[in-house]
Amino acid sequence: MAQMGFYVDTSKCTGCKTCQLSCKDKNDLPVGMNWRRVYEYSGGDWVQHEDGTFSNDVFAYYVSISCNHCAQPACTKACPTGAMHKREEDGLVVVDNTVCVGCRYCEMACPYGAPQFNPVKKVMSKCDGCYERVATGQQPVCVESCPLRALEFGPIDELRARYGNRADIAPLPDPTLTNPSVIIGTSRNSRLSGDKEGKIENPQEVGL
Ligand code: SF4
Ligand code: SF4
Repeated sequence: MAQMGFYVDTSKCTGCKTCQLSCKDKNDLPVGMNWRRVYEYSGGDWVQHEDGTFSNDVFAYYVSISCNHCAQPACTKACPTGAMHKREEDGLVVVDNTVCVGCRYCEMACPYGAPQFNPVKKVMSKCDGCYERVATGQQPVCVESCPLRALEFGPIDELRARYGNRADIAPLPDPTLTNPSVIIGTSRNSRLSGDKEGKIENPQEVGL
């Protein structure tokens, strides 16, 4: 089985959120629901020295995240009906709306906040890797729309051969929890998962 996944280059991302909006537009998502979310992570401060001069250690960067189509998905394990499942052909994790009972266990289990409850349809929804577009040779809409080319999608083995295997970048959780099919390209500002120096500056926007 080929496992498809994303590469997210935080050294290129400017936080414009075109990816978030193009996903929202394609999937006609209601207000408050974003299958792709762009975390704004920053910290540091200005420091006054004894001689009256100032220096700073401020930092900021953006991390664009959707579902990571994990190798060991916590969501599918938590789902009592099998609605949340991993596709054999490409490893993408999708939800079958005809089987979902809206219990939201997958939402509670996922450490990335990917599954989101649709209050109108009373079922779970999430990033499906745009598998219908991919089947026709296109890229996921988030990847295609990014003006900075900060996102890539493809077989995760090929992406790892090109970019390595870092996914332990704040504010993301420890990747050993679910073995996500995502690689985070770092910048000089990057902090590791569990970092206490920075914080998410847009919690409401990312659904926290
Ligand atoms: S990111 Fe969350 S929803 Fe997506 S496969 Fe992993 S555990 Fe499941
Ligand atoms: S579209 Fe590209 S640059 Fe803009 S927020 Fe998304 S990943 Fe970052």
